[in-house]
Amino acid sequence: MRLQVLGTAAGGGVPQWNCACPGCSGARAHPGRRRRHASLAVRLDDGGYVVNATPDIAEQIESCAWLRPGPGPRESPLKGVILTDAELDHTIGLLRLREADALEVRSTPVVRHALRPFAELLRPYLQLTWADADTVPVSGKRPRYAADSPEAETEAEGWVSALRLGPLVYAPAMGVWPDELDEAFRQAACVIVDGTFWDDEEPRRTGISTRTATQMGHLPIEATMERLSKLPGRRLYTHLNNTNPLVDPAAEQHKVLAELGIEVAADGMVIDL
Ligand SMILES: [Zn+2]
Repeated sequence: MRLQVLGTAAGGGVPQWNCACPGCSGARAHPGRRRRHASLAVRLDDGGYVVNATPDIAEQIESCAWLRPGPGPRESPLKGVILTDAELDHTIGLLRLREADALEVRSTPVVRHALRPFAELLRPYLQLTWADADTVPVSGKRPRYAADSPEAETEAEGWVSALRLGPLVYAPAMGVWPDELDEAFRQAACVIVDGTFWDDEEPRRTGISTRTATQMGHLPIEATMERLSKLPGRRLYTHLNNTNPLVDPAAEQHKVLAELGIEVAADGMVIDL
């Protein structure tokens, strides 16, 4: 399977437009440290897909040679979008794709329900079709805008998922590591997982939240790296928040991961599986 990493940052990207933390300031001073919102381009049997529709989606499609349009003036190899969840940072890019003639969106049913307002907005522009994604539930955390939706009370599952994409498992948000996920990880040739925060206190220490990483729906790297290192396939962290020390290439934490045989995903990385 053909796969290109289109972005590796958590919500806001690195740098985030309204943030001057060391990570964001470092990325402004050193453009090589910039990271777009976490996303993948994958080529499946029936066409090209982008995994999660981020605010950067148009530039991300441009950055991937085999997703660019052609040879006809209105031909695009992009068949659709596959979603891990309904968070705005992973879905707002759907609106940027309104120039498409048709688009398939794969997700869980509860994510599909949450995105009804998007479907309404896009209806006059393009034909959206919805399908189920091949998922493993990893968190019941729902987006703030969907906090009061009726589905939220009846459906704890399906809000945040790991995606099974052939030989790859992609889990940019992981609130738990259940047995079902472990089984999917063990069968995968490559796993790309939640590296939002290095340690559990990071969101509180840096002042971005009153909750810990785990309470925010992200197991921190410190809590997953040993277990990750024991998996048989290739292992990478993605979805780095701008507070994560890993956004600085000189951070000592890179050595810790290298010794465990774990990689940090980079924008533009091509992985052949
Ligand atoms: Zn920042």
